[in-house]
Amino acid sequence: MAYLNDNYLKLKAGYLFPEIARRVKAFCEANPEGASRLIRCGIGDVTEPLPPAVVAALHKAVDEMATRETFHGYGPEQGYEWLRSAIAKNDFRDKGIDVADDEVFVSDGSKCDCGNILDVLGSKNKIAISDPVYPVYVDTNVMAGHTGDANAAGAYGKLVYLPCRPSNGFVPEPPKKHVDVVYLCSPNNPTGAAATRDQLTAWVNYARENKTIILFDAAYEAYISDPQIPHSIFEIPGARECAIEFRSFSKNGGFTGVRCAYTVVPKTLLAATKTGEMNPLHPLWNRRSATKFNGVSYIVQRGAEALYSDDGKAQVKALVEHYMGNAAILRAGAKKAGLKVFGGVNAPYIWVRTPKGVTSWEAFDKILGEANVVITPGSGFGSKGEGFFRISSFNSRANAEEVARRLKELKW
Ligand SMILES: *Cc1c(COP(=O)(O)O)cnc(C)c1O
Repeated sequence: MAYLNDNYLKLKAGYLFPEIARRVKAFCEANPEGASRLIRCGIGDVTEPLPPAVVAALHKAVDEMATRETFHGYGPEQGYEWLRSAIAKNDFRDKGIDVADDEVFVSDGSKCDCGNILDVLGSKNKIAISDPVYPVYVDTNVMAGHTGDANAAGAYGKLVYLPCRPSNGFVPEPPKKHVDVVYLCSPNNPTGAAATRDQLTAWVNYARENKTIILFDAAYEAYISDPQIPHSIFEIPGARECAIEFRSFSKNGGFTGVRCAYTVVPKTLLAATKTGEMNPLHPLWNRRSATKFNGVSYIVQRGAEALYSDDGKAQVKALVEHYMGNAAILRAGAKKAGLKVFGGVNAPYIWVRTPKGVTSWEAFDKILGEANVVITPGSGFGSKGEGFFRISSFNSRANAEEVARRLKELKW
């Protein structure tokens, strides 16, 4: 008899996005007219095409694969040196942040890395996550057996939930009790909040005192508009001793369908063995990559490299400005509708408080039914997301303007 991984059975069945898809499908079947006006501001996927510099580099790399002389088979599992070096130089060293080329590990996505990192961490860690939260951090820990069962409210045993509310600007404070691992996502999905330098410094100080590891997800760093907000946890002194950073080309370069990201594991980051000796994690992650991964395709890595060319940088800037222009329009629309609005300034997500007494799913149904717009109910991201909904700015300008107009017309 073969046994399955019982931990998977602890996962909550009604996952957020399938439930949204179910309700949208039912609505469209019952309302063909509404269906034809439907605008999706739900799932956080980009909508605009790849930057031309990337497209040119992808084509060129495909042609290289077509002749024996320039063909590429397996590459280094950790990524080609030219890409690791372009990343370390452009995203860190040129900005005065100390990251070596071989501390950068190129991958096929931050979602995967956020889950895979658990391979090199022990099974007895006390793990903290924000509430609301990107569901991947929670579910991968459930799958790895790091949690108890979910209670009626959907909270898993053994996890430490850090509430994010208007009163803390949706940035969690370090807990009073000790945790071994904490996930921080800034700028944040779903709340659109970005942690200040002081807030991140408090976390790094906490981490160093408690020998905690910070798993810092900076997938949205390109969307930061406030010059005071750090783009990397490694801007904070001491972070090289306590943090791992995840970055992705999905949201800045429009790579959601191309797949390329990277993780920075500083060589100075240590974690304890069972007997309490402190060892570096870098060789473990390197070994994991070499054993369980065969690298990102040559073609895709050439595409990612092009994001760091002068043209690529200008095109990424234009893409980000496009989405943030949408964010400003959507923010203004939701405000004019009399709603309380958060985020959308340093992140492509707008986090909106539902009117008094209206739940997240009630707001979802109303906005779908009356405005024919799909948003994401906040309660799907955690219990503290109840009473909020998320609007994504990933859309065409015309759609963003239309959504803003329809929001203003809604009567609550
Ligand atoms: C989109 C997103 C990512 C990026 O994931 P990829 O697998 O690189 O596409 C990572 N973290 C968060 C919170 C995201 O929303």
